[in-house]
Amino acid sequence: MQRKDVREVYKWKLSDIFSSDEEWEKAYASLEAGNDFSKYRGTLGTAEGLLAFLKAEEEVSRRALRVFLYAHLKRDQDVRETKYGSYVAKITSFFTRFESETAFSTPELTALADDVLDGYLADPRLKDYDYMLSRIKASKKYTLSEREEIILAQAGEPLSTASLAFMMLDNAELNLPEIEYEGKKTPLSHGLYSVIMNGKDRAKRKEAYELYYSAYRKILGTIATTYYGNVQKDIFYQRVRGYDSCLQMALFEEDVDESVYRTLVKSVREATPLMHHYIALRKKIMGYDKAYMYDIYPSLVEDAELKLSYEDAYDLCIKGLAPLGKEYIELFKKGRDEGWIDVMETEGKRSGAYSSGVYGIHPFVLLNYQKTTHDVFTIAHEMGHSLHTYFSNKNQPFAKADYKIFVAEVASTVNEVLLLKYLLKTTEDAKLKKYLLNYFLDMIRTTLFRQTQFAEFEERAHAMAEAGEPLNQDNLSRLYLDLNRAYYGDAVEHDENIAIEWARIPHFYTSFYVYKYATGITAAICIANRILNEGERAVSDYIRFLSGGCSTDPVSLLKIAGADLTSEEPFKAAMAEFAAALEEFEKLS
Ligand SMILES: [Zn+2]
Repeated sequence: MQRKDVREVYKWKLSDIFSSDEEWEKAYASLEAGNDFSKYRGTLGTAEGLLAFLKAEEEVSRRALRVFLYAHLKRDQDVRETKYGSYVAKITSFFTRFESETAFSTPELTALADDVLDGYLADPRLKDYDYMLSRIKASKKYTLSEREEIILAQAGEPLSTASLAFMMLDNAELNLPEIEYEGKKTPLSHGLYSVIMNGKDRAKRKEAYELYYSAYRKILGTIATTYYGNVQKDIFYQRVRGYDSCLQMALFEEDVDESVYRTLVKSVREATPLMHHYIALRKKIMGYDKAYMYDIYPSLVEDAELKLSYEDAYDLCIKGLAPLGKEYIELFKKGRDEGWIDVMETEGKRSGAYSSGVYGIHPFVLLNYQKTTHDVFTIAHEMGHSLHTYFSNKNQPFAKADYKIFVAEVASTVNEVLLLKYLLKTTEDAKLKKYLLNYFLDMIRTTLFRQTQFAEFEERAHAMAEAGEPLNQDNLSRLYLDLNRAYYGDAVEHDENIAIEWARIPHFYTSFYVYKYATGITAAICIANRILNEGERAVSDYIRFLSGGCSTDPVSLLKIAGADLTSEEPFKAAMAEFAAALEEFEKLS
């Protein structure tokens, strides 16, 4: 389908950002004519000076974000169109310059004496910035002298070489062999590998699995070195800044207590018998004597597609999300009716789905709606992000509106869980029920169990290196294999290929990131349950969480909604959900 053939009701309304490209050009030109931030250097030592700088910075950020939003949404409508590609490039390079022009502020603030910062924290004029300032104050402990900080900043680029080398290997130079797929020889890309792993053809899965890992095995020593290099980079920063461990450093930056990480790992570890049971059940249903890791991806249920038109899918979401109350549902409808969403798949349009929003304008959602059950969930998911953005932008000042990664997948997952529960409750169709339960089980398998397995791997690898043990292909593979056994149990073979899975995970080059997926889904399940059980009170707490932006640390924000990740309770609740779904699924199988 061509974009010009799509009815207006299915298109987002970018004129809400700029009425025309000419308006965009004007806004961009005025940014370029810009501000001179060098005049603020050395002025942050007084409240007046700081306030003047922060206001100026905010004013430019707000305009620049609007310019960026329009450019990237326009580009994504048709990525072949070079005009908007160059819009994106222009504003991206503006941001780089803007960031470097204002980069003096963090070190300048960090260098201020505690009593000056305390004065700022008590100053009502700086209230919008109190959380940011409290973080600056806390980070003083780990900040070095001005000269040392300059050296550290200079070291940033060379220290990223290990990670860049991995990306180069993994995206370009890894010699992935060809495989015969749908009648023709095709290179086994990462994308095709994942398609085959999720497919029904077992022989093909086995072939792809072996080919794929054989390519990694050939360069395993190199990848062990790039990974070790990346861990050493973390250790370098940890040591020179004086953190206790790399984990502590990463969590400090996120303002998350280490107990959250420990509780996650402990709780998921305790629940691994459930995963073992699920894997054994999969093997039984699939009818295999022996199961391998390439058998754990395909859905156990033949397609049970809802095949709904977009209108019906949207209405179904409204019904499923009804427990979120009238205010939420009104906004959910507003999104559909007032041009937030770009619905249809058209030629050249960016694939997938996302939500994108900036301060001062309603959020936007990109879909490529197909009549699959999965795509109904995608509507609920992306609108979950959008309404989180909407509430935070509406209720917070600019400086506190942008919610952090730690909480970013909560609102989207709450919506998925509510919709899923509604469908399970209302459908009479056993096949659909099984499909939905399988969907839920796999969501928890991949997001809660698997990401925690990764989190444990990272933690242990870092701990080994911190204790002076060099990391190499042997000890990394041994560690990974042990973890794989612990997580998946005896119903599946743990072969030499899965032992090197660590070598193909790009996320490991952003250390201590993936655990946030696991805590996010845990919080979401806990919050969805509370909404269903407690009704209005839980809803109003949840709306307060959605309205919280980044006004305080993420764990405290989640506590507002009733998910206390410093306790075991939400993890136990999530696992109880998994157990219940597993039991029901087994009964139906
Ligand atoms: Zn998402």
